This record gives sequence, structure tokens and C-alpha cells, in this order.
Amino acid sequence: MGYYLLDHPPASRQFYPTRYETESGVVVVHTAESVMDTVGPDTGAEGVAGFISRRNDPGSYHCLVDSDSIVDLVPPHYTAFQVAVDHFNRHSWGISFATAADAWDTVAGWDNAALAQAGHRIAVYALDWAQRVKGDINRAYEVPRWISQGEAQARTAGMVLHGQLQADRSDAWVHHSERATLEARLRLIVRTEIDRVLKPPEHGGKPMLLIVRPGNDELYVVYDGGVMDHGGDSINAYAGVGLYQADTDGWNRYVKQNYRAREIANKDLSQANKYSPNWPALLG
Ligand SMILES: [Zn+2]
Repeated sequence: MGYYLLDHPPASRQFYPTRYETESGVVVVHTAESVMDTVGPDTGAEGVAGFISRRNDPGSYHCLVDSDSIVDLVPPHYTAFQVAVDHFNRHSWGISFATAADAWDTVAGWDNAALAQAGHRIAVYALDWAQRVKGDINRAYEVPRWISQGEAQARTAGMVLHGQLQADRSDAWVHHSERATLEARLRLIVRTEIDRVLKPPEHGGKPMLLIVRPGNDELYVVYDGGVMDHGGDSINAYAGVGLYQADTDGWNRYVKQNYRAREIANKDLSQANKYSPNWPALLG
């Protein structure tokens, strides 16, 4: 998995490969106002991504989701063209459902599946933002809350609907009768997904570092101070690495552990960021 708009260069400019401001942790939630694909595999997100690559006017997101897929368009440190007012594009990150604002709840099961995809992806962004921008993975918990337009303008981390920010828009569900329910469900999924990474029950390790692979289908989390089982023997590990892989139920954790991580982390976990580019390769 890569980034769709890097693999399919758009016909007109749809992003900048930089940020004019530091990422705020503001997550803008959209609907793409596309037609929901309910026959066979859901190709909605892929279809909208193709549309963005061909359109001649500006309009893009960082990510698109539908009921069975996540399509990343550009990296999080890129500027996407998602909100046309108040410089939100400079600091916010945008995710869009490949559906229409008035189509929620009209197809059984679609919204549950799509909310799960989006919740998972927003949690990945929150963890990545906390680590990469704030230097503290635990600050991911600042994202799963709904914020006002004023808070978004003040660069307060949290989730906000596009329709709250721009007067001529009503996505993702500003006027929907089930707005409160949709928001509660999405927030809970994001929070739960973050919990799965930051509160692993198997050991007492403290999460220290997150590495997200391009495409975000895998996460590596480095834990400091945990005690882990190794071949039936419990050993004191100073650090460990958990590999999380996404599936339909969220992340599966501890697919892999590798004690070479301990050797590196022993040197100085506060300096571990400098190893980030090489961590995946170290996990034999
Ligand atoms: Zn929108």
C-alpha cells in the first residue's frame, strides 16, 4: 500500500508536499458525496480516489474509506485541499467516507463497516501525530473528542465535521437525524483502537515509540520496561516491539516480537527516534 495520488499523479494540483503550519491534531471528517457501491466488493473509496486524480478543480483528502477499504491519498505531512476557508488545510488532516451525507443508515451494515474503517484509520493518525509531531505517543488521546469550529480554528486537537467549518457544506452528517449517534460511535471506535495499542494487557510495558509503515497497514510499537514471555521463559525485557496488523476487528497485536529491540532501546529510548527508519528492517 502506498499513497494513491503519489502513484497516480493528479491532472491538476491536489496537494502540497509540505505543511505551512505544524499539524494541530485537528481531524476533519467528510463525506465525498459519491454514490455508495453496494454490489460486490465495495469500490467506493477507490472510485473517489480515481475521480480526485482526474478532476480539474481542487478537492482532495489525506484518506478515503468505504465499508471494506482504506485508501491513503497523500502522507500526513502533506497539505491536502479539503476545506476552502480559514487556512484549515495548513494544519488539519482530512478523512472522507465514500458516501453521501444523506445516505447514512440507508444501506444495512454499510455505516457500521465504514465507521470501523474510519475509526481505525483516525486512531493510526492520532498515534502517528502524537509521536511524530508531539513527541509523546500518549497524546493520541487528545484526538478522539468532538470539537467546535472555534476549537478547530484555535488548533485544538480533536475531530470536527467539514460542515461545521465551511458554511456552504453539510458533510459528513451535520444535518443528519442520527448525527449524535454517528459521532458517538466514531469517537468510541477511535478511542478503543488507541487503547488497544497504548494499554496492552499482556505486560506492563510503557509505550514509548510508534512506527507507522507507509500505507498504515502495520504499526510497530516499542514498549519500555515490560516483561514478556519468550519460548515459555519469562524474562525481564527492557523493551520490546509489538507488531500490529490490521484486520476487520482492528489490530492484532504481538504478531511478532524481537529482542534485538532491547539492545537498541537499552542505549537510550529517548534517542530511539533516530532509529525509526531502520526499525522495521531490524525485525527479522
Ligand atoms: Zn467535505
